[in-house]
Amino acid sequence: MTPMGQNVSSTWSGDFQSPINAPKAADVVIIGGGIIGVSTAYFLAKEGIKVCLCEKGYISGEQSGRNWGFVRIQGRDEREIPMVAESQRIWRYFSSETDIDTGYKEGGCLFTANDEKELQSFNAWLDLAKKYDIPTELLDQEGLRNEVGLAANKWVGGILTRTDGRAEPQKATLAIAKAAEDLGASIISGCSVRGIETSGGRLSRVITEKGAISTSTALCAAGAWSSYFCGSLGISVPQLKVRGTVARTNAVETKINGAIFDRQLSIRKRNDGGYTVAHGSTFDHAITPSSLKYSKKYLRALINEFSVLKLSIGADFFDELAAPKHWDLDKKSPFEMNRVLNPKPNKKTIAQIQKKLGEVYPELRNANIVESWAGMVETTPDVVPVISHIDKIPGFYLSTGFSGHGFGIGPGAGSVISKLIQNKPTIDLGEFRLDRFFDGSPIRIGAGI
Ligand SMILES: Cc1cc2nc3c(=O)[nH]c(=O)nc-3n(C[C@H](O)[C@H](O)[C@H](O)COP(=O)(O)OP(=O)(O)OC[C@H]3O[C@@H](n4cnc5c(N)ncnc54)[C@H](O)[C@@H]3O)c2cc1C
Repeated sequence: MTPMGQNVSSTWSGDFQSPINAPKAADVVIIGGGIIGVSTAYFLAKEGIKVCLCEKGYISGEQSGRNWGFVRIQGRDEREIPMVAESQRIWRYFSSETDIDTGYKEGGCLFTANDEKELQSFNAWLDLAKKYDIPTELLDQEGLRNEVGLAANKWVGGILTRTDGRAEPQKATLAIAKAAEDLGASIISGCSVRGIETSGGRLSRVITEKGAISTSTALCAAGAWSSYFCGSLGISVPQLKVRGTVARTNAVETKINGAIFDRQLSIRKRNDGGYTVAHGSTFDHAITPSSLKYSKKYLRALINEFSVLKLSIGADFFDELAAPKHWDLDKKSPFEMNRVLNPKPNKKTIAQIQKKLGEVYPELRNANIVESWAGMVETTPDVVPVISHIDKIPGFYLSTGFSGHGFGIGPGAGSVISKLIQNKPTIDLGEFRLDRFFDGSPIRIGAGI
């Protein structure tokens, strides 16, 4: 690897290496090749289930290849803790007992406090950590200095979970996909799923651009496209998107070996020696008809996140308005017209990142940004995912809305979803059902985007 590292954007460019036709039949069809779809395929294939995963663009070409690479339990909503604990077990298992190279390292995750108010806000997590026996430490300035050197001078304290880790988004999902293939899964990129068909009241075929697949079971793990895909089937999924801008630096030597979430600037050590860097509290939300349609359900999330959201209205509003709601399954679908959701990074945010780099992390003052990109984070009204059978279409499952924390929980979610599909649930998924947004349940929010 050169000191510049490998371009992250190589994940979503190049030719698709795919068969001409999809298989005629499969036990389970997975729609979407992000970390959720791919991990589910891996665990199903491990149990000898014939699984076919269809990805419209590149495996890991959207959120799963663009994220910060934090693999953390710290700061999670309580509802996610059992699944993320399972996930951390799997990340460790992949790196210690298999040749699945996800780039996983246990470098710890630090949340920093710029003032006393921020420090107090960590108390809720410290209580949860105690309840679940998670070894989170509260650090004062001196403790911080031992961990991260000069950067500590900016902060009044922080919380650190040393057993949290980091992995390489550029590698992880592709490596798990390869392992699923080695176990017999059929993984097809450049293959949009246009829709599904039912027969006798239950799912019978998944229609792709490379042919129909007969199956009794399908999982929609379509990330930012899930609401649109499900909408075409008459299933309402409250889901909104925010754009996150990310960058990486050249290789630099510092004391910081893990991941730091800081309100001004978050960083994560990369295996190529550089850092993935992002503004800790800036997301762009372009208002769309979906923002208006689901505004009531998102009110609490909007209040919580108001200070980090940059709202705008423009082309995205009209693009969504003009997008077809239904289409013929024997013709090109909207998914083939937009193989990769590839938003442009926000230039102002990049300039801020470069400016803040040396200010917040003095050891990084000579580091240069060598690449920048953006990704759409998709979220539900309570910032917790949906993992649910859709009763309206027996045999159809949905798993989406992982917000800004679906990478770390991905392998665990894949394991849990594979068991759900086999009707052998390992954890209670009641909190993740889609119906919670429609049956009058209160919207409870326990973590940020
Ligand atoms: C900027 C940013 C920073 C983040 N940081 C972190 C972090 O540090 N830690 C963390 O845990 N999480 C993080 N996340 C969140 C994490 O990346 C996501 O929650 C996770 O990757 C979601 O995985 P997924 O498989 O559900 O979706 P995706 O990775 O988006 O995959 C869905 C796939 O479905 C495909 N698809 C859609 N429709 C169809 C169709 N009709 N047919 C075929 N294929 C289809 C898409 O092309 C896409 O590849 C971050 C996200 C972003 C954008």
